[in-house]
This record gives sequence, structure tokens and C-alpha cells, in this order.
Amino acid sequence: MTAMEFTSTRDSAHSAGFAAALLQGLAPDGGLYVPRAWPVVPAASFTGQSALPDVATRLLTPFAEGDPLDAFLPAITSDAFNFSAPLVPLGTDGRLSVLELFHGPTAAFKDFGARFLAACLSRLRKPGQRPLTILVATSGDTGGAVAAAFHGRPGIEVAVLFPKGLVSPTQERQLTCWGGNVQSFAVRGTFDDCQRLVKQAFVDPELRAHSELSSANSINLGRLLPQAVYYAATSLAIWRQYGEKASFVIPSGNLGNAAACTWARKLGLPIGEIVLAHNANRTVPDYLDSGEWRPRASVATLASAMDVGDPSNMERLRALFPEVGDLRAAVSAFTIQDQDIRSRIRAGFEQFGQIWCPHTATAAEAYERLSASRHWSQVSREGRWVVVATAHPAKFREIVEPLIGRPVAVPEALAKLFARPTECTEIDADLTALRAALGRRTSSWKS
Ligand SMILES: *Cc1c(COP(=O)(O)O)cnc(C)c1O
Repeated sequence: MTAMEFTSTRDSAHSAGFAAALLQGLAPDGGLYVPRAWPVVPAASFTGQSALPDVATRLLTPFAEGDPLDAFLPAITSDAFNFSAPLVPLGTDGRLSVLELFHGPTAAFKDFGARFLAACLSRLRKPGQRPLTILVATSGDTGGAVAAAFHGRPGIEVAVLFPKGLVSPTQERQLTCWGGNVQSFAVRGTFDDCQRLVKQAFVDPELRAHSELSSANSINLGRLLPQAVYYAATSLAIWRQYGEKASFVIPSGNLGNAAACTWARKLGLPIGEIVLAHNANRTVPDYLDSGEWRPRASVATLASAMDVGDPSNMERLRALFPEVGDLRAAVSAFTIQDQDIRSRIRAGFEQFGQIWCPHTATAAEAYERLSASRHWSQVSREGRWVVVATAHPAKFREIVEPLIGRPVAVPEALAKLFARPTECTEIDADLTALRAALGRRTSSWKS
């Protein structure tokens, strides 16, 4: 059995197996790992499999074959996919549904990727090894999902860096409520300072000397692949029930979730159209319109987790669709302004009794524009459509509650987090400060 290889999007001479790609995060040339070849996993090969862990094992087996993680795959998928992704129909004809990806510990879809990566990395630890330290710079949501996923895993420590005073109080709670093997740092600086610190830490001999360092940000293959699983499971359910392909509208920022959907379709799952719903950060829709790739600084919107002006996973989409024409044939994209996000949150509640977070509402609004679309794409609303719900509305209560005129109930998982005590260390935005803080940590653990 030959192991599957993953190659860098920049230079395919850089390749790694599944476990190695997960541990490295980025390829040595700064590129992102993508499969060198695509296995085919057609709908008919999922006999009797519909639960997420089973679909995950079937879908990901070709990627793990011959790899150190292969034998653990069933255990990893049942550990990672331990919460559901229900498909909720809107209206009565079953043509439009919402896929709720927010039933995990931090109530957003990033829990899937973070939990899968944590489940994999914890199985690559051997007793007696130096600790593995996961460094994450976060502007809000990613850090919480990563902290939750790695919390309590033996042999792994997590350091979360966030810009002091620049994340919402709700986000800050999710970053600082863990303790144990998770340490939070409020950095006196910006998000860019946090990212710079993480990059410096990776090449710092002193830090590397006492622990192995890895990252868990969204370009890690171990976060992307598991996201293909819920697209596979959903398209299978629709295929089995109606004999039709499922089309998806995906709230998009850094394009990880969207790239995963294109991967699921590439693997042979019955997926039709893929529509990317962007907020006012219109780099991708502009690229599809003009054919010119012009990354830019991000602008702040209501759907803040999608405020990305230079999406990293574009490299993965380009690897799959090298010419802009190929990409236009594969996906379409919409730009949705804040005022239309607001009105869609109101309309979703009035029409369907649904309460949507701003990201989900962005996708619901893009769906509404399909038939009236004057875009180059000829995508219409025919067929079976799924709007992807990426976060629970309770995470964005300040925005949602005034629009629908009532309180949003907090799910149990979030309520539990909010009840925990918080703890964090404030540090200056320089490597010396980070080293000292991490060092203290390591020695107090040994004693
Ligand atoms: C991260 C995030 C997104 C954007 O996902 P990408 O994979 O970066 O495109 C959308 N919605 C929510 C709630 C998020 O946290």
C-alpha cells in the first residue's frame, strides 16, 4: 500500500505524508499542502454509512492509508465528530435547507477542524517525548475552537495569543476560560503583532530547544480535510432521499470551508453548485468578475469572522482550478453589504422563524440573489440547496437581538464556557516576553 502524498501549492517537489503534513502546518516553501492525486470516493461506496464519524472514516481512509495515523482513523473520527450537523428544512418543499455546523463546544464550524486536528496530533505523541506546543494567533474565533479542542490532551500544550482589548468580551471569555494545558496571552499590540510573534517563535532556537512547536491555524491540512466530511454526509443524505445533487451556499472568508466543499465534489460526492457568500471584503468576487487577483487590506463588517482581504486558501482553489475560467466554472461568488446582512437576519426570522448569525445571513442573502443574478454565472435556484450556518447566533447577540426584537437563547455548550473562571497573562508584543512567559509555564509544569 503506498501512502498518499500531499504536495505544496508552490512547489510540488515539497511533499509530505498525512501525519507529517499535519505536524508541519505549512510546507517548507510557505505553500499549503494539497493531495498530489485525487482518490475517487463515489456515493455508492458509502454503503450504510450516514453518521458523521462513519462517513469521515470512509472519506478519509484513502488519505491516511499507509500513514502512521491510518490505524487510528476510526478512533480519531469518533473522537472528532462527536456532535451533529443537522440539516434543517426551510419551508415545506424540501428544496432549501440550512446545515447547522454550530453544535460543537464553541458553537461554530471551526470546532470540526480543530477537534479533528487535536484528535490526530494527540495520537502522534509518544510517552517520554518533549511536549508539543501549539501556538495560535487569533483575532477571535479560531483560538477558542483550538483551545477547546486541545484542552486536556496529554503531552500537548496550547498558547493562544490575542490582541489585548481588540476581541469582543464573548470571544475573550472563550480564549481565557481553559486553564490546565491551555495558556492565554493578551498581547499589548494588534493581531498582526500576534501573528508576527508566532512566526518568530517558530524559528527561535531557544523555544525550539525545550518543546516541539506546531500551529493549528486554518491552513493546516488537518483542519481542512475534516470539513469535507459534512459536505459529503449532507450530499449523501440528499442524494439518497431525492436522487438529486446538493448545492451549497457557503459563508466565506479565508476560504477554508469553501475549499473543503470543492474537495468533497472532486472526490466524487454528488455536489452541484458551490456559491461563495462574502461580506464587503470582495477580493474573491472581484477576481471572478475581472480575472485580476488583487488582495487588499480587510474592512470591518458585521460578519467579522469573514473579514479577510487576502484569503490564504485561495492557493488551494488555484491549485485545483489554475485558470480563472476554471474557477468561474467551479464556483460563483457574491458580495453582501452589512445592510443586506441585517435585513436578511430580520427576514429569516419573519419568514422561517430562524435566527441566523451574520455569517449565515450572508449566505442566506446570497441564495436569495441566485435567480435574479446578473452575474456572469448562470446559477439558478433549481435543485436542492443548502445554506451553510457557520456559527450559533448567540455568539453575535449584540447584532442579532435588536434586529429580531427578542433575546437569543444561549446553547448549553456556550453557557458552560461562560460559567468557567478566566485566566490570562498580559505580555508585551515581543519575543523576549513570550519566551519568558512560555518558559515559566514549562518549568512550573515540571515541578
Ligand atoms: C471562520 C468563519 C467563517 C469563514 O470561514 P473560512 O473557512 O475562513 O472561509 C465563516 N463564519 C464563521 C462563523 C467563522 O468563524
